[in-house]
Amino acid sequence: MNDISIRIAGRTGRITLQRPQALNAMTYEMCLAIEAALDTWRADPAVDLIVIDAEGERAFCSGGDIAELYATGTQGDYAYGQKFWADEYRLNHKIFQYPKPVVSFLQGFTMGGGVGIGCHGSHRVVGDSSQIAMPECGIGLIPDVGGSLMLALAPDRLGEYLGTTAARMNGSDAIFAGFADLYVPEADWPDLISGLEKTGDVSALEAAAIAPAPGPIQGQMADIDRHFHGRTLGDVLTTLRQDDSEFARATLTAMGRNSPLSMACTIEALHRLRGPSLSMEKALDLEYRFTARAMEHGDFLEGIRAAIIDKDRAPKWQFADMVVPTSAVSKMLMPLKEMALQLGGTGMKIGFIGLGNMGAPMAANLAKAGHSVTGFDVAGTTAKGVAQAPDIAGAARGMDVVITMLPNGAILRDVADAIIPQMRAGATLIDCSTVDVESARAVAEQAHAAGLLAVDAPVSGGIGGAAGGTLTFMAGGSANGFAAAEPLFEIMGQKAVHCGDAGAGQAAKICNNMILGATMIATCEAFALADKLGLDRQKMFDVASTSSGYSWSMNAYCPAPGVGPTSPADNDYLPGFAAELMLKDLGLSQQAAEAVDADTPMGARALELYRAFVEDEDGRGRDFSAMLPRFETRGRG
Ligand code: NAD
Repeated sequence: MNDISIRIAGRTGRITLQRPQALNAMTYEMCLAIEAALDTWRADPAVDLIVIDAEGERAFCSGGDIAELYATGTQGDYAYGQKFWADEYRLNHKIFQYPKPVVSFLQGFTMGGGVGIGCHGSHRVVGDSSQIAMPECGIGLIPDVGGSLMLALAPDRLGEYLGTTAARMNGSDAIFAGFADLYVPEADWPDLISGLEKTGDVSALEAAAIAPAPGPIQGQMADIDRHFHGRTLGDVLTTLRQDDSEFARATLTAMGRNSPLSMACTIEALHRLRGPSLSMEKALDLEYRFTARAMEHGDFLEGIRAAIIDKDRAPKWQFADMVVPTSAVSKMLMPLKEMALQLGGTGMKIGFIGLGNMGAPMAANLAKAGHSVTGFDVAGTTAKGVAQAPDIAGAARGMDVVITMLPNGAILRDVADAIIPQMRAGATLIDCSTVDVESARAVAEQAHAAGLLAVDAPVSGGIGGAAGGTLTFMAGGSANGFAAAEPLFEIMGQKAVHCGDAGAGQAAKICNNMILGATMIATCEAFALADKLGLDRQKMFDVASTSSGYSWSMNAYCPAPGVGPTSPADNDYLPGFAAELMLKDLGLSQQAAEAVDADTPMGARALELYRAFVEDEDGRGRDFSAMLPRFETRGRG
């Protein structure tokens, strides 16, 4: 993406907005890219702090790019805008809560969406050209992106004034109002940023800051407090209209340009927010109640039309006489119930493709841990807490991580062709299916070429392990890929081994499953022999499970019904791990053995037996431990 540069420079995670021709207005893609970078850097020990700046002298960021919202909204698609705002607010919240210092350099205009990016960090730097404002009422919104928090916290009634008039603050006033922290001459910024990159130490910022002269808004505080003290928009307008001062006239002119419904809701929102329970979450929740309804019931579409589509600057607002009934305000600010804003903690956005016996419980565990999981399966299956994507691209687009859990390598390659072009650069593709080493390597290569991290991470532990979050992951891929995937392995499993480069996870898996196929057959034939020798199955288990005959097949997945821990044998051999999947894995190990000229006679015999079981006998659709009833009925012939 050319609109933004995201990189690591020295000790800093660096974000530079680079759309100066559009005053660095934020697009949806820029918003998602910043969020993904912050997620990646949160736990990266190489990054001590984040520095956000922007190219060009005129603006840090003049707001959100709203043209697309207008296009979708006028076609009756309100969901696009709702998702855009919800994603943007989640980013604002992440910046606000970020565990490392976030330093922003705010030259020129910082407005609306720009405030959401630039004014929630720990060190907000302004200079001579800074102009900060919340102009949302002018397009039929209310101050959002967390801006209502700062307005509610601003001295006296400054919040109501800034929110309803869209007045611009210079650097000094922005510090006074709580939108900025440090005033540093702009000529000093480049050296300051280089220093931050070199040292990762923010103390240089305080040293570089100077005390600016008071700004014009500070000189108007007595007027602001007097006129904006009222409970409603009507109260504010009444006192302003009774005053013949220059301040009152200019203020009424400014308010006359804005949506009356938006201004009335802004004043109500600030009254509701002020108080001991004020928090960023509460502010964003209240803002979202308005924005989620703004296209359908507010003045937003009309505001955009007048400002940037027809550019006639003559919006036809609702309540044009400035008399906004309380009921209209309440309707815009009432709770959204199930549509309420979900900030989702520090969760990632995860796409999960293949919600079968294994995938569904794995995806559910990720959702339970607080991640936002969107799933897709051709069979239409779902999982608890997992949103359903309408198509495969919907489970890949904009995701931080996409996990696949599919039947075989050919399907994995098809799925990779469909999703890789949809994924954003820097995202991680984790394939947990068991597939051939060649497919794993080919998909990893394709992912790398698209700028993604890729990990092959097949699992062991069966459906019990998938449901209980106790799988073992065998991972292949780069150290960075493994580091990105590891926090998710910790949720879905109890152990993850980084086995080597791309394909190494699959190599470990097929070797492991060659052992499993052979030991399951050995365990089943031993039980069948014990039967014929008149040995009780429980006694056989008691001995073998604690003697040298013990194995996972015997101890954890005993193929004899009613013996040992609960297993598919106790459920009429319904899979569990289907015999055809074991056949697949044994085929993969023999294919690999042939490719590297390895002698694997036990693996070859296990493959023959499972092939006969699945293809010629009644094994298809049964658990792989159903080898025991097969042996029971047979003699040596
Ligand atoms: P499964 O057949 O239950 O699940 C696979 C899912 O993939 C199905 O729901 C299917 O509809 C879906 N699918 C197929 N093609 C698709 C496509 N193009 N797009 C989206 N979805 C698609 O199999 P499972 O038991 O969950 O196993 C999945 C993988 O995990 C396999 O590779 C298997 O070898 C491996 N594995 C399974 C176990 C086990 O005990 N079941 C244990 C370890 C590893």
